[in-house]
Amino acid sequence: MIIDGRKVEKNIKIDADVVIIGSGAGGAPAAYRLAKNGKKVVVVEEGGHFTKNVFNGDSYEMVKLMYRDAGSVLTLGNTGILLPLGRTLGGTTTINSGTMFRTPNEVIDEWRRDYGIKTITSDLLKPYFEEVEEITHTMEVPWELMGRNNQLFAEGAQKLGLHGFPLKRNMKDCKGSGVCPFGCPEDAKQAMHVTYIPRSEQYGAIYYTYAHAEKIIIKNSRAIGIKGHFMKGKYGVEKSIYTFEIRATVVIVSAGAIYTPVILKRNGIGRHNNMVGKNLRIHPAAKVMGYFDEELSSWYGIPQAYCVDEFADEWIIFEGFWLPPSMLSIALPSFGKDIKKMMLDYNHLAGFGIMVHDSSSGMVKVAGETPLLFYNMNKEDLEKFRKAIRIASEVYFAAGAKKIYPPIFSLESINSPSQLSKIDTIKLKPDMLELSAFHPMGTARMGSDPKEAVVNEELETFDVNNLFVIDASIFPTSLGVNPQESIMAFSSYAADRIIARWDSLSR
Ligand SMILES: Cc1cc2nc3c(=O)[nH]c(=O)nc-3n(C[C@H](O)[C@H](O)[C@H](O)COP(=O)(O)OP(=O)(O)OC[C@H]3O[C@@H](n4cnc5c(N)ncnc54)[C@H](O)[C@@H]3O)c2cc1C
Repeated sequence: MIIDGRKVEKNIKIDADVVIIGSGAGGAPAAYRLAKNGKKVVVVEEGGHFTKNVFNGDSYEMVKLMYRDAGSVLTLGNTGILLPLGRTLGGTTTINSGTMFRTPNEVIDEWRRDYGIKTITSDLLKPYFEEVEEITHTMEVPWELMGRNNQLFAEGAQKLGLHGFPLKRNMKDCKGSGVCPFGCPEDAKQAMHVTYIPRSEQYGAIYYTYAHAEKIIIKNSRAIGIKGHFMKGKYGVEKSIYTFEIRATVVIVSAGAIYTPVILKRNGIGRHNNMVGKNLRIHPAAKVMGYFDEELSSWYGIPQAYCVDEFADEWIIFEGFWLPPSMLSIALPSFGKDIKKMMLDYNHLAGFGIMVHDSSSGMVKVAGETPLLFYNMNKEDLEKFRKAIRIASEVYFAAGAKKIYPPIFSLESINSPSQLSKIDTIKLKPDMLELSAFHPMGTARMGSDPKEAVVNEELETFDVNNLFVIDASIFPTSLGVNPQESIMAFSSYAADRIIARWDSLSR
């Protein structure tokens, strides 16, 4: 059952077995598994419930409805990085690109070697990945759904002998509408709101939308419930006078790697080692655009459909992207009439994304209820961008591009392969790059040592019993690949551990 919090007109008090804050990649799979095992699950989600009936491709309106702060979350530091977050039922999965990757074995090995992880192994997670892939219909993008934008980059990469492959995505009957980040108009993208959430409802899970959790109720070092208030207004961003209190045996925080630390810090959790909010990783990203003589209709097909991973060992990967005109025009490293000139060429432009597996790390601080995100890009990651911009430009020239627009403010365009050396020689600084990031992680990291970590390997906090963190916050490092499948698998695993320990958790 999904209850619209804007329509609740009284204060409510409920008892449950498990209460979950947030309904995204972390919250929804756990809700499903726990409900299926007979637990009374209540989920509170600050955003609203939207499906294909609402998803009309109007990117501006969709961003206002489903993105946190209408898509304007930004990091501060030696460069500003736009960090969009979902605020809707299904969390960021409802507005994401659908790409699915298992956690790379090397990353788990690194956690075991350098971060004291003992029980988590690739073998342990394997059945969870398999189940996630089955429930979300994860499949490889067929070539014909890729759109010319992805095909061009694939062709260029093949000419240069670079390894690449069609991405795997959660999708069913996808028609390649091309607007994944603004809500799939076919509900073909198998995000949480069309997979785990309806499945969990079948087992009695209750979802309150427009319900903002504030307080974790703690008694004798044990979480026993949460309190919060409903929201009101068209976009659900105003505070209603009506409140909720949900008492439960287990409390799970799945508010994502930016808002989970806000909730934990505001409730005094994690003071023992001051690690909450630290270790923020984001997979900084940039885009390289190519101008081609042919008309490309880059808006047709799946925007994120192909990946070049030739340089994954150097912590760089390339993945497709595309944006409608209203969004592309505000996401280019240019101003005024230069943007106008580029946008007039919209049908001749191709674009591909660079994603860096970051060694830089930042932190989430809290001012009132607002997270302040600090992130400085280190020299190592900056140089990864230099290298990646050069490679993507070479790929585009190999594919027949006439001109490249690199994501560097002072380098307007590269008009021939002979000018590529400009990328090598430019005195690059982080604030010269046009950057965004889509994968915040790491701010309540897991580990076996309470001095270093916020949660243990069962994702229960070291500070407070019966309080679990299940979302992107728990990763000790960035993953180097898109994280949602990892989050879903960890969510299912953690739910199993809660079920196995239920008797002791209830005592
Ligand atoms: C445009 C875009 C494209 C992306 N594409 C991909 C992709 O293709 N593949 C991939 O793997 N990843 C992708 N990602 C990232 C991926 O979606 C996230 O990593 C993942 O959804 C994070 O899961 P989570 O559970 O940590 O948080 P979320 O999914 O963000 O869920 C957190 C939820 O908690 C709610 N919440 C927060 N605070 C409160 C509160 N106080 N009370 C109640 N509710 C609260 C939020 O409203 C939100 O709905 C993309 C991200 C973006 C922005």
